[in-house]
Amino acid sequence: MSIEVVVAPKLYDPVTKGLEAGFKVHPLWQAKEPMAFLAPLKDRVRAFASFTSYPISAAMMDALPKLEIISTMSVGVDHIDLAAAKQRGIVVTNAPDVLTDCVADLGMGLVLAVARNMVVADRFVRAGGWLKGVFPLATKVGGATMGIVGLGRIGKAVARRAEGFGMKIAYFGRRRQDDVAYQFFDDLEALARDSDYLMLTCPGGAATRHLVDAKVIAALGPEGMLINIARGSVVDETALVAALVSGKLGGAGLDVYEDEPRVPEALMALDNVVLLPHIASATHATRAQMGQLMIDNLKAHFAGEKLITPVG
Ligand code: NAP
Repeated sequence: MSIEVVVAPKLYDPVTKGLEAGFKVHPLWQAKEPMAFLAPLKDRVRAFASFTSYPISAAMMDALPKLEIISTMSVGVDHIDLAAAKQRGIVVTNAPDVLTDCVADLGMGLVLAVARNMVVADRFVRAGGWLKGVFPLATKVGGATMGIVGLGRIGKAVARRAEGFGMKIAYFGRRRQDDVAYQFFDDLEALARDSDYLMLTCPGGAATRHLVDAKVIAALGPEGMLINIARGSVVDETALVAALVSGKLGGAGLDVYEDEPRVPEALMALDNVVLLPHIASATHATRAQMGQLMIDNLKAHFAGEKLITPVG
């Protein structure tokens, strides 16, 4: 008899097919009333196939008393109540490494897009602006300093790319890393003051909530640019919008927001902001690898083998 898995949100089609090939899959994402959907499955479902846009609460775990594993195809696990999972003996796996390159590519893409006004320039050409005049000059990337908040797998991959563009790198984290040559700051405001671009690549969740607050944004200043490819929760979005609207922050490149998919209306009219819909890992190749790792973790668990990428 196949092992029964609840899946939410809707996943990339090839991943869903891969999941369906090995498991009996229940699409929770189709349910209008999630708890009512889960109720008849309570004695059957042993696994949850997950991704970032569908939070997994303690109440959902309680609704599935036979749940053994939550396997997410994201590296971030801030959408899962980890404490509740631990308390109930539910193991959690994630999908590190396979998405690092694509996320770092997008981070660097946002740096270039914001610094060189690429999105506005594209609109300028399409609207026939070039036939009437020249496009305003923009900001040079080479030689500028990138401050990285959370120098982990993705942060280091961004740093390597930024070095290729001739940027100087510094970083903030909970500890100095002895094996990297970049300058370490134990004070985020000081890093922001020294940075032209502040690149966020730390995890989301309670520990980093509003790490980038009004003070950090003010320290980055009217020439500074904030790039967020981490999580919306890391930034005080109200403070960010206020600083961008008043010109106290130079610009921003955002892939993530506090209340996705809702993006603050005030940002829509700003030319110094590039807005992306949480797509840093969204390439066919990478999503396929993320999904495969999620499936392989589920298979390892039910085969009694060592988990490939357990969390914690
Ligand atoms: P990682 O290797 O674990 O790196 C995270 C880094 O953040 C670590 O170097 C850690 O350094 C630092 N950090 C952790 N807690 C911190 C805190 N409280 N304050 C400051 N720094 C802290 O993870 P990764 O694979 O690079 O992924 C990083 C994050 O990127 C994920 O958690 C996810 O939220 C985000 N992400 C976003 C997208 C997207 O679509 N936009 C895609 C993938 C990932 P220390 O331990 O030294 O503090």
